[in-house]
Amino acid sequence: MTPGSVTIHPVRIPFIVPAPSGPVSRFVFSFLICTDASILLIDTGVSGSEQTIFGKIRKTGRKPEEISTIILTHSHPDHMGAAKAIREATGCTIAAHSLEKAWIEDTQRQEKERPVPGFSGLIGGPVHVDRLLDDRDIVPLGEGRSIEVIHTPGHSPGSISLLLRPEMALFSGDAIPVPGNLPVYDNPAESARSVERLMNIEGIQYLFSSWDKSREGEEVYWAMDDGYAWVEQVSGAVRDMMAAHPGIDPGELTLLVMKEIGLPPEAANPMVTRTIMASVRPPGNSR
Ligand SMILES: [Zn+2]
Repeated sequence: MTPGSVTIHPVRIPFIVPAPSGPVSRFVFSFLICTDASILLIDTGVSGSEQTIFGKIRKTGRKPEEISTIILTHSHPDHMGAAKAIREATGCTIAAHSLEKAWIEDTQRQEKERPVPGFSGLIGGPVHVDRLLDDRDIVPLGEGRSIEVIHTPGHSPGSISLLLRPEMALFSGDAIPVPGNLPVYDNPAESARSVERLMNIEGIQYLFSSWDKSREGEEVYWAMDDGYAWVEQVSGAVRDMMAAHPGIDPGELTLLVMKEIGLPPEAANPMVTRTIMASVRPPGNSR
């Protein structure tokens, strides 16, 4: 069967994180997968992003109410922040990996366990997860088209990537670290393994990452190679700094590592320290 038409619209959502050293401008991508029958939304951006997302939908001549499902690649505020508002406006269902459920449904717990600066301003509130996703689950989109769930932990325990078939478009959430960006993941070894797993999928034509521009053709695999190398570089810098400064405290270690990997130390935040301490901990200890 030949699938009907599908259009993928990346939606770039700028936002501000109030870091300890001052506000940091960031952005994140959400993605609209528009088929003839409905609209699937991958991630929602921070609180308030529904206006940007709905605006994009209207520009394409469709209606926000056509969103039938949101798939959250994971629970972090810049991915689930507007989920509550979008569900209230559209009545859509929400799907995510089982290991992210607790933090999506209890955002106060998430804030306590992962205190992102400015958390409460970035997240519109908790939402119920209607459908739990697991590795290799298939979400049918009709007309022979589907999304395959690929569990890619490391950035967070239940991070998932989504492969749209037959277009072979991969939506990787935050699973592929972007070189030169602040390193933010819970488990570097798992993160590297997840990138490796994605690299081993043959025939991916498009890559849509939450923090990076869209990639096409051979650039897809180059971006994955670079992401893998970045995780290795950060872990190597942590090891070197630990060896040179035994007993150093986490804050100082963060600043030294940031300098070593070519990032401005003033951009350091608790998320980066969390990442760096994860590189210090023995592997397998993800939270
Ligand atoms: Zn994230």
